[in-house]
Amino acid sequence: MTNWAGNVALRPSHLAYPATETEIQNLVLKAANQGQKIRVIGTGHSFTDLCKTEQTLVSLDRYQGLVAVDRAKGQATVKGGTKLKLLGELLWGEGLAMENLGDIDVQSIAGTISTGTHGTGTAFGTISTQVVALKFCNGKGEIKRCSPAEFPDLFKAAQVSLGALGIITEVTLRCVPSYKLLIKNRKEELDSVLGSIGERNRQNRNFEYYWFPYTQTVWTKTTNVVESGEPDRDNYFNYLSELILENYSFKALCELARMFPSQNKLVSRITAQSVPTMDKLSHSHKVFATTRLVKFKEMEYNVPAAAYPEVMRAVIRLVNSEQFAIHFPIENRWVKGDDIFMSPAYGRDSAYIACHVYSKKDSSPYFEALESIFRAYGGRPHWGKLHTLTQREVADAYPKFAEFDRIRKTQDPDGIFLNAYLKKILDQ
Ligand SMILES: Cc1cc2nc3c(=O)[nH]c(=O)nc-3n(C[C@H](O)[C@H](O)[C@H](O)COP(=O)(O)OP(=O)(O)OC[C@H]3O[C@@H](n4cnc5c(N)ncnc54)[C@H](O)[C@@H]3O)c2cc1C
Repeated sequence: MTNWAGNVALRPSHLAYPATETEIQNLVLKAANQGQKIRVIGTGHSFTDLCKTEQTLVSLDRYQGLVAVDRAKGQATVKGGTKLKLLGELLWGEGLAMENLGDIDVQSIAGTISTGTHGTGTAFGTISTQVVALKFCNGKGEIKRCSPAEFPDLFKAAQVSLGALGIITEVTLRCVPSYKLLIKNRKEELDSVLGSIGERNRQNRNFEYYWFPYTQTVWTKTTNVVESGEPDRDNYFNYLSELILENYSFKALCELARMFPSQNKLVSRITAQSVPTMDKLSHSHKVFATTRLVKFKEMEYNVPAAAYPEVMRAVIRLVNSEQFAIHFPIENRWVKGDDIFMSPAYGRDSAYIACHVYSKKDSSPYFEALESIFRAYGGRPHWGKLHTLTQREVADAYPKFAEFDRIRKTQDPDGIFLNAYLKKILDQ
């Protein structure tokens, strides 16, 4: 097995697919009693070694679905393994929706929140901020419940936990009545976008953009709620365009740039030219989800929103210096600050800058150069994406690290959920 990108090989001695909470609990108890390690995997879309183990790996693929809906409160409780696509459909059937989503919908809800996955929009926090209660099986095999009212500190630790506190069995989400969104894809000028980011974020529900290296071209995506209009009207055209432009043609260009590194600039320019002017109107859970067939490696850093213009200027200078043979566009998104201990957006309104490299190429020199820029501005890495931080650096970047650490040790005193990667970033 590998993760989605293929950069992490997974070789567990035992792969378990529990179908009930009791089966999950028994797996944890067995590992704890035998002094073994245990990890849980969602859809394997993280780029780091988070899910790696030589012993038991638990998948909740057979533990999906709706547990309860509280219409009066607008809340829904779902099983931890539920994939976002299914979750969106189940909520829609109840007249509900999640207030915001990221770029794809194949992740599990527990995997999504455990790394602080996010979308874009200055009015919205990471997806973990939509969680109002959690249930998980800790390292002692105990089933724990937490929420802002019941064990609030445990809740703040569990909202983004990197799978280090236990196996999340249920997630209760604050939902909103179902709604439709219109997303507008446009080709625009970098300088004009950089000069109007504040305005675009204020005037639109969701704004993000991709910058194509060595060019003045950006692909903007601007999304707003619409009351009228036929959902999915343009789906066939959108699907074809997404499949051909964003995937098959792009893959061919990635191969060209890999074989002829001097052609990266040309490839970036060609890709920039093919940015579609395209609108898509659909139910909220379908609008953001894109198909990603071209495999890449990714690093994404959270930086304070106030520092974004300066950080992005430094990134543009570095990329345009042509020290690195890269061509993938750089993605820029905005997220509201939160109070979750290990959330990259802890305590600050944030911008996220994501850099990608074709999966068959070495990403290290490029990512390390960018990482030093991000870190110079107080950057914090997305927990599902590549970075080089060690425990000391994580502790420095996260004001609530000590509290998270204390809670982790009470929930998993024998460290059965710790693998080598988590030891490096969490364990002193
Ligand atoms: C193509 C692609 C697009 C992406 N788009 C975005 C995006 O738009 N925004 C964004 O922020 N991120 C994005 N990501 C990153 C992705 O959302 C995160 O890596 C997310 O954690 C993946 O979810 P998963 O279900 O695959 O979890 P996995 O990668 O399988 O696991 C992630 C972590 O969650 C833990 N975990 C999983 N299930 C449980 C459980 N039941 N209980 C406790 N812990 C658990 C695992 O142990 C691990 O530590 C993208 C990744 C890819 C490959």
